[in-house]
Amino acid sequence: MSMTRRDAMTVLAAGCSAALIAGSARADDPSPGDDFLIWKPAGDRAWCAIGSGGNSTLLKGDGAAVLIDCKNAPYGPCLRRESLRRAPSLAMVINTHHHGDHTGGNHAFSSDVEIVAHDKCTDRVLGQMHRYISQMKEAASQLSEGDGPVVRRVREEALSLYKRVEKLKETEFVPRTTFSATREIDLPGIKATMHHLGDGHTDNDLVIHVHDRNLLVVGDLLFHKMHPFVDAASGADIAGWQSCLRKCLDLCDARTVVVGGHGDVADASAIKTQIAYFDKLREFVDKALREGKTRGEIGAMRMPGYGTYGLDRLASSGLLAMHDHLAGEPAADDRDAAKPAGR
Ligand SMILES: [Zn+2]
Repeated sequence: MSMTRRDAMTVLAAGCSAALIAGSARADDPSPGDDFLIWKPAGDRAWCAIGSGGNSTLLKGDGAAVLIDCKNAPYGPCLRRESLRRAPSLAMVINTHHHGDHTGGNHAFSSDVEIVAHDKCTDRVLGQMHRYISQMKEAASQLSEGDGPVVRRVREEALSLYKRVEKLKETEFVPRTTFSATREIDLPGIKATMHHLGDGHTDNDLVIHVHDRNLLVVGDLLFHKMHPFVDAASGADIAGWQSCLRKCLDLCDARTVVVGGHGDVADASAIKTQIAYFDKLREFVDKALREGKTRGEIGAMRMPGYGTYGLDRLASSGLLAMHDHLAGEPAADDRDAAKPAGR
């Protein structure tokens, strides 16, 4: 559903029709030994699950909870189970953007939880079923039966999903509710605002500002200590990205907990570092162009000072996007070569 009447609206007040799912485990007894995902604290009654796709952030309120992003497709059931273990009443799932490592697990929630995203997320999700299927194939080969019962269960879930691949419906992955600019979350114990701050990592990025926790979830606008994926084919705009990050900084103070789409839980300094990364990228590529380097040569280069950064395979996406921007060339559609399956 696309909201066209107004950009700012309040949804999901206490007692409204949002589906609440009951989990069986005690919320305050997460039993981390049973977890497949790596759960880290992200401030007051909030956790960040790292790995198996992009970061997922869980907010626990008073009898309600919100989950932000759903990892790769095979891990949806696992994410659901481990989220409910911590926060037994899930009222809303939010996708920070359409990339498959943030929406793949939507199928585990879409039957009974409202999934919220930006207007432009839906069509992009519909166009990437092949990415979800690739994720299923990868998981089936990577997860080993011999790695204990927790891994075995996730492997069985991945295989089960892959077995019904022919019957998968696109509607299992698409958000149910979308909006274009700003939307409030008003749930018991969770007061937050979702913002679309402009084109940045994609054309459908959302930032979730959880006022009552001083927590800011920025999705893939932040790759913390990793090379960012610049997905020009999905509307990525490096100048716009930096503008979005500056607007994010305006929402932060020295104590704000910041969760990006990849990497550990951070603070506002990580946002400043991401802005600086793009400044340095611009200088680096500009110098290479003046030295007569070709597009291909620039894509194969690496900026000095970032040797410890993760996701090296994504570095070319930024170099090429910056080349195209500075050289005034139309974006070449070689992003598929630069990005891993599922993004
Ligand atoms: Zn992304």
